[in-house]
Amino acid sequence: MNSSCSPLFLKVALPLPLRQLFDYLPCGSTLTAQPGMRVLVPFGQRKTIGVIVEIADKSAVSPAKLARVIAYPDGELTVLTSESLELLKWCWSYYKHAPGEVVFNALPPLLRKAHGVIPPPLVQYSLTAAGEARLQEPPGRIKAQHRLLVHLQAGPATDTQLRASSPAWRKLLARLLEQRWARSEILQPAPLNPCPGPLLTDEQRLAVDAISATLGDFHCHLLDGVTGSGKTEVYLCVLEQVLKQGGQALLLVPEIGLTPQLVSRFHRRLGFEPVVTHSGLSEGQRLQAWAMAKSGQARLVIGTRSALFLPLPELRMIILDEEHDASFKQQDGFRYSARDVAVKRAAGLGVPVVLGTATPSLETFNNAAAGRYHWHRLRHRATGANEPRWRVLDLCQQVMKGGISATAMSAIGETLEKREQALVFLNRRGYAPVLLCHACGWHAACQRCDANLTWHKASQRLLCHHCGSGVRVPLMCPECSADALQGAGEGTEQLEQMLATAWPATPLLRFDRDTVRKTGEFDRLSEQVKSGESCLLVGTQMLAKGHHFPKVTLVVIVNLDQALYSSDFRALERMGQLMVQVAGRAGRDQLPGEVVLQTHYPQHESLLTLLESGYEAFAAAISADRRAACLPPFSYQALLRSDAHRKEDVRAFLNQAKQLFPVGRATVYGPFPAMMERRSGRTRWYLLVQADGRSLLHRQLDGWVEKLKNIPAARKVRWAVDVDPQDY
Ligand code: ADP
Ligand code: ZN
Ligand code: ZN
Repeated sequence: MNSSCSPLFLKVALPLPLRQLFDYLPCGSTLTAQPGMRVLVPFGQRKTIGVIVEIADKSAVSPAKLARVIAYPDGELTVLTSESLELLKWCWSYYKHAPGEVVFNALPPLLRKAHGVIPPPLVQYSLTAAGEARLQEPPGRIKAQHRLLVHLQAGPATDTQLRASSPAWRKLLARLLEQRWARSEILQPAPLNPCPGPLLTDEQRLAVDAISATLGDFHCHLLDGVTGSGKTEVYLCVLEQVLKQGGQALLLVPEIGLTPQLVSRFHRRLGFEPVVTHSGLSEGQRLQAWAMAKSGQARLVIGTRSALFLPLPELRMIILDEEHDASFKQQDGFRYSARDVAVKRAAGLGVPVVLGTATPSLETFNNAAAGRYHWHRLRHRATGANEPRWRVLDLCQQVMKGGISATAMSAIGETLEKREQALVFLNRRGYAPVLLCHACGWHAACQRCDANLTWHKASQRLLCHHCGSGVRVPLMCPECSADALQGAGEGTEQLEQMLATAWPATPLLRFDRDTVRKTGEFDRLSEQVKSGESCLLVGTQMLAKGHHFPKVTLVVIVNLDQALYSSDFRALERMGQLMVQVAGRAGRDQLPGEVVLQTHYPQHESLLTLLESGYEAFAAAISADRRAACLPPFSYQALLRSDAHRKEDVRAFLNQAKQLFPVGRATVYGPFPAMMERRSGRTRWYLLVQADGRSLLHRQLDGWVEKLKNIPAARKVRWAVDVDPQDY
């Protein structure tokens, strides 16, 4: 109302890659503008949706030059709570990213658009006394109406549940409401109706008690439990307490860990259906999940990375399962670590956060070792099963067949003879990673990346696993026309074929992104495995995550050698994590398990530490190396990434950027070419900034990043800052 007399200025985030907010004047409406409300504003020649971040009493621009907001599409409703806004502000200042992109990343896709509207709270319908009375009378002509009444007699139901009863359900329902045979009310959060789980082991009990004791306060817990030690049981017990107190909770899982199987386990145990959200859902479904989170109707949300930003007014606990998983880091656009932001969010709210894993990332491991996190160890498998036994095969002395040694083949044979299951792990899909010409040495390379094309034999295509481009497999060599094309190396498709030939009568299931495109598909395959019938499993890291296959007693790790001598300093850490995760698939039940590791480097020191002393010793050893080399987590890094079609442009930009870097205790190195220099037709280079302390790093980054857009060469390149980078 006072907008005309004392001009207030709205600082608005717009979905643009610009590191600034935009000032607008409120529109003439009687509504009071509030931070968190969406606005429709003019921008250049178009209209766009924005979000009010702040209300200020000054602007650097004179009011005469400022445009007015056109409309508040949601009225007084906000799409971001003050808590989310605080978190997002921290995000854009910490990650040095454009505020508008950070804010819009936190909205469900439909609300990023002008036509998207906040859905009203979900309602449920129930039968009235008059409706009960109507049911006593003869059904009458409209059978479908009678069916609807009968449906409601069984208990309140939502739209989704009624939809199945009749194609005309909406019209019939309207009539029931009109006749006052039924009434509608806002859907109440589902009542907690837990069913008892197994008796906790001592280790689990200690962890549950310690975590529960911190409810209502910010504390970080590392739940460090070997695979099968019952971490999920611990989550269930602490969640039950949070929910009992009327709180909401958020469980974040890696991209490939979110299966219907996992969700139904929570459903069964807690007695209500958790709300699930991930990027594979339709925009409408994501909006619905968002609305239920915001209204408090969702008590437990299970989701991937992006669920972290849901508005949850009663959020009392955040759990990240498999905290070491790389999918928690967003690798493009707004690059953030969902793990680190989760910790920040919990700190802001004053609630506990639980990081669960069998293989802590070195960051988390060292936070726990330094006493910043509570460290709960679950050293034993909950079912009493033993840890699998390792057997290292030195490939230098082995006869090989399609990537698998004769010894490993006979181990597989013995397992199948005992009517048990064997799992063969190779983290490479396709038939062969290279297709080459035996006559002239030509090989199929991607035109747009520094990478070979992977040969997918069944689909007769050569695919680039980096940019997605693909071509048909040529009939003869494009270089010398010889009919001499052949694959080099192995992928899961080839292993499947080779193993199927060796054991034609044994069912063989392949798990990789070519065979498992939908989450439901994974469950279908894994149900088959769980039925217990003797079979062979072949797959990529999709098989490494949290799945319980009781009859698998042998795991063969085909090859992880590349990691031992990689130029990426994190390769060893990731190899250790993957090895332990894959090995964890063996012998989870009553039957003892064995893991066969094929390697050319059986004497590699880190490998020996891992195999002989376990992951904790391994993590401590590689931490010591990182500390000696001043690498993260013992130093802090940021990258200035840049790419363009022409290498000269990228280098010119980075060189000029380097010149501008302020003198201080952080150092800038480079420019360096990215590990994959060319990707999707663009040349990629970076500058590395490193400092001994986080605040030292940020102090120098802040002023620097501000100046980068003024570099003349910046117009010819794309650039972005990557704080705490995970790849190079
Ligand atoms: P994790 O999440 O650590 O891999 P889970 O919670 O999935 O482990 O537990 C592994 C298996 O052990 C599951 O089948 C689970 O039902 C069972 N389990 C967990 N805790 C117990 C317990 N205290 N007693 C008996 N079985 C348990
Ligand atoms: Zn050739
Ligand atoms: Zn490519």
